[in-house]
Amino acid sequence: MSKTLSVNAGSSSLKWQLYEMPEEKVIAKGMFERIGLKDSIVTVKFNGEKEEKIYDVHNHVEAVEHLLADFKRLNILSDLTEITGVGHRVVAGGELFKKSTLVTPEVLQQVKDLSSLAPLHNPANAQGIEAFMKLLPDATSVVVFDTAFHTTMPEKAFRYPLPNKYYDEFQVRKYGAHGTSHMYVAQEAAKLLGKPIEETKIITCHIGNGASITAVKGGKSVDTSMGFTPLGGIMMGTRSGDLDPSVFPYLMAHDSSLKTAQDVVDMMNKQSGLTGISELSSDMRDIRDARKEGNPKAMLAFDMYCDRIQKYIGQYLAVLNGADAIVFTAGIGENAEYMREGVLEGLSWFGIDLDKEKNSTYGTVEISKENSRVKVFVIPTDEELVIARDVEALKK
Ligand code: ADP
Repeated sequence: MSKTLSVNAGSSSLKWQLYEMPEEKVIAKGMFERIGLKDSIVTVKFNGEKEEKIYDVHNHVEAVEHLLADFKRLNILSDLTEITGVGHRVVAGGELFKKSTLVTPEVLQQVKDLSSLAPLHNPANAQGIEAFMKLLPDATSVVVFDTAFHTTMPEKAFRYPLPNKYYDEFQVRKYGAHGTSHMYVAQEAAKLLGKPIEETKIITCHIGNGASITAVKGGKSVDTSMGFTPLGGIMMGTRSGDLDPSVFPYLMAHDSSLKTAQDVVDMMNKQSGLTGISELSSDMRDIRDARKEGNPKAMLAFDMYCDRIQKYIGQYLAVLNGADAIVFTAGIGENAEYMREGVLEGLSWFGIDLDKEKNSTYGTVEISKENSRVKVFVIPTDEELVIARDVEALKK
């Protein structure tokens, strides 16, 4: 018996989950928010209780120091050596990392070198790795990449039709994201279908604040909606998703508040999507409430949101030449039955027949009618568990 920690370090946050392995039992979980700012928020959930404290956490090393102290103070662990493995989510693995990998000084450097592909994420991920390696030097450290699952995409799907030199010299291509989640729910869906995953065609829709859709054939990603960065693909909470790139210079020429290319990218990342259209919120629950009150901007935001998901499902039905199942997961995918209905309603011609009654239930559930040619499932994602499993596998 040993304990494994799954870690997801963001630029100002650090989420963690402690597992008893190989039982896959969650012992405790929690997060640090507002790292580096005043009044950081530190939450620990253990034994059915939640503790929340507010104090200043200046950096990731300090966060890890507090976490390890909390493990002892709250009797979550009697000795820190019980933690034998730490798995870290890393956003960008580029073309270098096709699967989860043990951390060595060289691997850590490569994670840092890939920061140009994920400037907000990889440096924070690297800080998390370094903090744990310093304070738990005997634990096995593993990196689990968001992009790894998508490295099976064929070249025709991952290349952009730009001059070759931009791929050859600058590695501009589609990398995708949320790979751990797409892989997990595709595997769970294959179990529900009662088929070996090698024989399945599944469209996975990870619809959270960030959102992406993947075509999974035989358990492998063959195409995904996010692109070079997580800005591409469907409309999201605050991100635009796909656009005609000509919008970019046009806006710079006409809106004096957009002075640099980075200003435009920031606007497309942070002020667009549901937020941009509803002028209200990036949170689907707020959009739902405003729609009910007849707010026209919220109604348009919702309709556009469903429209983009529907179109990608249509694309991937073509890419896969039909599908055995469509899966919805993540915050909105798991909880917003009205979004699932808005997306699936117009797809009956494809053999997708939603059961509205089943669609209003929660947890792992089949929401299509019994005779629906394409099954539709809601499957709660569990990226932390995949990370813990990968640590276990690499420890042996
Ligand atoms: P991320 O990991 O990308 O931050 P999540 O998968 O946790 O995102 O999803 C967060 C989003 O899920 C929220 O912004 C909100 O829009 C949506 N969400 C969460 N709970 C619900 C709910 N009960 N009903 C509808 N939407 C929800």
